[in-house]
Parts: sequence; C-alpha cells; structure tokens
Amino acid sequence: MTETSTIVAVATPMGAGGIGVIRLSGPNSVLVARTLFRCDPPLGTRPRYVEYGRVTDENGQTLDTCLAWVLEGPRSYTGEDTVEISAHGSIMVLNSILEAAISAGATLARPGEFTRRAFENGRMDLLQAEAVVDLIQAGSKHAVINSYGHTSGRLSQLVGTLKGHVVRAMALLEVHLDFSHEEDGCFRTELIAKEMEAAMSLSHQLLGTFPGTLRRKQGFSVALIGRPNVGKSTLFNALLGEDRAIVTHSPGTTRDVVEGQVVWEGDLVRLRDTAGLRAASGVAEVEGIRRTRQEAKDADVVLVITDHSRPWSAAEEELLALAADSSLLIVRNKTDKQCKQRIPERVVGRAPAISTSAATGRGVWELREAIVGSLPKAREFEGVGLSRQRHAVLFEQIHTACKNAARAFSQGEMAECVAAELHAALFHCGELLGKNVDEAVLDEVFSEFCIGK
Ligand code: GDP
Repeated sequence: MTETSTIVAVATPMGAGGIGVIRLSGPNSVLVARTLFRCDPPLGTRPRYVEYGRVTDENGQTLDTCLAWVLEGPRSYTGEDTVEISAHGSIMVLNSILEAAISAGATLARPGEFTRRAFENGRMDLLQAEAVVDLIQAGSKHAVINSYGHTSGRLSQLVGTLKGHVVRAMALLEVHLDFSHEEDGCFRTELIAKEMEAAMSLSHQLLGTFPGTLRRKQGFSVALIGRPNVGKSTLFNALLGEDRAIVTHSPGTTRDVVEGQVVWEGDLVRLRDTAGLRAASGVAEVEGIRRTRQEAKDADVVLVITDHSRPWSAAEEELLALAADSSLLIVRNKTDKQCKQRIPERVVGRAPAISTSAATGRGVWELREAIVGSLPKAREFEGVGLSRQRHAVLFEQIHTACKNAARAFSQGEMAECVAAELHAALFHCGELLGKNVDEAVLDEVFSEFCIGK
C-alpha cells in the first residue's frame, strides 16, 4: 500500500434521489479536491466550514452542485486529511465525480482501505476495525449494538484489563525472583496467583459468550417440520408476512428447504420451511426428507406443525423425536376446521402447544411470540459478546497460557517456564489488538469490507 497516495471512493451511496458521499483521504486530498470542487473561498480555507460549490470534470464541465468539507488529520477517521463531497445520489453523477478525482491524481480506494489507514495510523485497533465490518453487515439490532460496543472500544478495554493482569503477574514474578528470601515473599506469591486467576477468569468469561453471540449474529434458525399438507408453507408465509413458499393442495411440493428472514425483537430469525415427512416417492423427495431431518437437528427452535382436523398419529411422535435436542413448540394448525386431534397425555407438558389457523391468521401472532420466547439467550460479559472466530481462538490461547502459567507457578516449576507462558498470553493480547499480526491476517480482515469504508 502506498501510504502517501490520495484515495477516493463513493463512501455512502444512498440510492438514486438520495445523496452520495465522495470521500478523499491522503495528504494531498485537499489539493486534489480543489481541482474538481470550485467554491469561493477555495475549499479548506475556512476551518470546519461546509462549503457550497460546483464539481467539474477535467474540461471544466459542471457535473453537480454539492457541499464539501475538510476533516483535517490526524483527528479524522483515517488520521489523514480527508475531504468529503456530498453530491446527488445518482450513480452517473457519482461515477463522473469519481473519474474527475482520479484524473486529478487520486487513486480508487481498495475495499476497506479507509479503515486500514485508520488502523495503520493508530486511529483504531484491529478489534475496532473488525467491528466496523460487523456494524456494516449487522443483520439485526442486537448485532448493531454488539458491534457498536466493539467499535467504541469496549472489547479493546477488556483486552487492556486482561493485559494489565498478565503484566502485573510478570512484574511481580520478576520481583519475587530477586527477593524471594524476604519476608513478604508469601504475600507476593498470593498476588501473582491472584493476577493469573483474574486473567484466566476474564478470558474464560469472554470465551463463554462466543457460541451465543455468533449464533445470534448469524441469525437463529427456526425449522418448520410436519407431515405433508398440514400447512407448513402457509404458516411460513404468514409468519414472514409475504408469499415465499408455494402453497398447494398436493402433498410433497416443498422438496428443498426454503428460508425467509425476519427481525423479531431485535433478533435475526431465519425461518426454514422443510419438506413434509412421509414415505417418499422419488429421489428428490428422499433427499428433501433427509434435509428436513438435518434441519430439525440443527435448528435453535423446531416447530412441529400438526393438522388439528386430523387425528394424532405415529408420524407426529416421530417428528417429536426428531426435535429431541432442540427447543420445541407444537403447533396445532387448521383450527378453523373441526377438531379431530387429541394430543396424548404423555406429550402434553413436553412442549407448549399453540393453536393457529394459517388460513385466517388466527394465532399467528401468538406463535411468533412463543418463538421469540424460545430463542436461546445470548450471554454477554460486561455488555460484550465475542462473535469472531479469530477472537475466540486468541482468547482460548490466552486462557490456556494463563492456566499453564498458574499451574507451573503453583507446582513450583522454574520461574522461566511461568514467565514464558505469561509472555505467550501477552503476545496473543497484542494479536487481538492488531500488534504482531501477519500481513495475511490483515489482508483477510480488510477484504471483508466494501469499497468506500
Ligand atoms: P404443507 O404441505 O404442510 O406446506 O401445507 P401447505 O401450506 O401447502 O397447505 C396445504 C393445504 O392446506 C393448502 O390447500 C392450504 O391452503 C391449506 N391450509 C393451510 N393452512 C390452513 C389452515 O389453517 N386452515 C385451512 N382450512 N386450510 C389450511
């Protein structure tokens, strides 16, 4: 990456009719911007001033009338001088301005290059940079809140606390080696053990948030399973509020899993309509049924849909067995028809039963509420949840290193062994924040970004 070049990108196209922001960053960004944005006095002359002017191409042809402002480094997003031009949100206008900036000497930013510069200029650590991607890609309000916590440095602060424990343990260990014969040696031993214990506990608490937060970020999956024709697809459409799955009288229509996403109470929920379970006729249906069984196993919540106008049968029992490990809700659909179903005593109490009529919409809201109530609760620690594999791996390594150090210390092993483990823990804390990190890791992180961020 050429650090000194001025980069340009459309940062926030808001669609036709809205606004688009062209962002330039680099030491020459004001000079570049002045060649295409004309205002009086020239851009950047008046500090912290939003200027109104014209953007022209290299031939002086006016492309748009815009607002522009300068954000001086090092207190800008990237840490460099930055210019933002707010133009009309037409793709043609924005592309023309982009071309004019490139003719004036800017280069087109690569994906994530603005944030990478911010990271390299010390405006944020790697945890915060990763959180910017998560914030942009957030599929639910909870994911937004969690990512925002990380961008604002909450996770980085906890890593700082963790580092503090490790560093103090190392310092005390050093003193202990030099003055172990003195009277307060015992007191120091206790302190060292305490610091290591605190580091272990903190890394353990954070690790504990990973499965739940990751699941929440990916979206909770809710599988609709049942015999053919009980109304799974109709119910799926009713829950989604749109016609996604095909509804027919003929059984065996849904062969593949159909997914629809909703955000309920701030959580992303992936509803999964599956093939009806029956003695299959044909290869496609056999495969469809195999997938249904898998869905029932993998889902966070399984809705066993039954037809209230047909008697309870062995098929329903088989469905319940499929969902043995998941959170389960029994749905008695078609309640607008005469009831012929009696749920056996042994089943009552095993799972809540909700009555619906997908055809009339009755009970659909109550079902939605019951699903929300059954979603797993994501555990957080001090408002923070880990949602990236890289973080989980590093916290695991920190935890193991601290555990090894504590064990070696308590067993009276050589102080060098204890110190080596503590050094490893410290090194991994640095990796979390982006220090000692391989270029390839950085490339991977920043490749997740879109251009303009
Ligand atoms: P699936 O095979 O389980 O997905 O069932 P569908 O959703 O395709 O529905 C099968 C048939 O049952 C269709 O004709 C639907 O219109 C009908 N159906 C679905 N839900 C209800 C309901 O609540 N009441 C009534 N009377 N018919 C329904």
